[in-house]
Amino acid sequence: MINFDYIRPSTQKAALDSITKDVNAKFIAGGTNLVDLMKHGVETPQKVIDINKLPLRNIDERKTGVIRIGALALNSEVAESELIQNKLPLLSQALEAGASPQLRNMATIGGNILQRTRCPYFYDTTMPCNKRKPGTGCSALNGFNRMHAIFGATDQCIAVHPSDMSVALTALDAFVVIAGPKGERKLAFKDFHRLPGATPHIETNLQRNEIITAVEVPDQSSFANKSLYEKIRDRASYAFALVSVAVAVEMNGSSIKNIKLAMGGVAHKPWRLTETENFLRGKQASDSVFEQAATIAMKGAKGYGYNNFKLKLAPNTLVDALKKATGKVG
Ligand code: SF4
Repeated sequence: MINFDYIRPSTQKAALDSITKDVNAKFIAGGTNLVDLMKHGVETPQKVIDINKLPLRNIDERKTGVIRIGALALNSEVAESELIQNKLPLLSQALEAGASPQLRNMATIGGNILQRTRCPYFYDTTMPCNKRKPGTGCSALNGFNRMHAIFGATDQCIAVHPSDMSVALTALDAFVVIAGPKGERKLAFKDFHRLPGATPHIETNLQRNEIITAVEVPDQSSFANKSLYEKIRDRASYAFALVSVAVAVEMNGSSIKNIKLAMGGVAHKPWRLTETENFLRGKQASDSVFEQAATIAMKGAKGYGYNNFKLKLAPNTLVDALKKATGKVG
């Protein structure tokens, strides 16, 4: 590991001033991803700015019904919060599925959003990787790509985003609250992460001199009773998703009044299924409708060899999650 300077500012302004002044600085909070990346030599910051003293840990509900979660709230605090379990059970389930209790006790909400892909070639500094070193090529394209994307990839990068929480927040129409030198702005979660295109090293629309301060989730009370995070992984004890589905549904008898859907483990960003949602709205919950929905969801999917199994696993997981969430099966 390289040598680096360490500072611990106590105000947001001081943290932003430090990152603005130093292009080789990085924020650290829980450190559960950054420290790994530094050990592998993938990240080599000359200065580490510890933001744990900033007052960004509250979880509360606004008068408008919006739930605001501070960026430094721990994954475990959010998953176990009574407010989140009652009002946003989908988020709580996704967090519980996302990592071991030890990691959840260290990792923050902001860090979870910003965690980087677990593509093994990204961590292996002896291998070409456009994300780590632009222009060197993508080792996964013709390599061992079992965990990789089936949607939205390019020959520049076929990595997937690893966060379960971000899949749930994308489905729930959440916003990322961002502070920077020009003040505060909010970005819809679905617009926060980027597809790889020709610049896979640029993973989000966060500027380097900005900081995530919170996540805001609009009132989702009509969806609270019927929501599900279904994650398929190689082993039950904490592994990244091969495929996951976040579903929140509002029923009117046996018909679907409203629905929110997103997939994980399939793209460089959480994959919102807007066309599938539009198809399902107003339909009776049935096996045949869910099969049709899965066909719509899989439009444009492409396998790269070792991950071809996801072309079947993804629609099957979607159908299963729809059945469970709507109560079509137990
Ligand atoms: Fe690098 Fe992306 Fe290719 Fe993995 S998939 S080797 S992260 S460019």
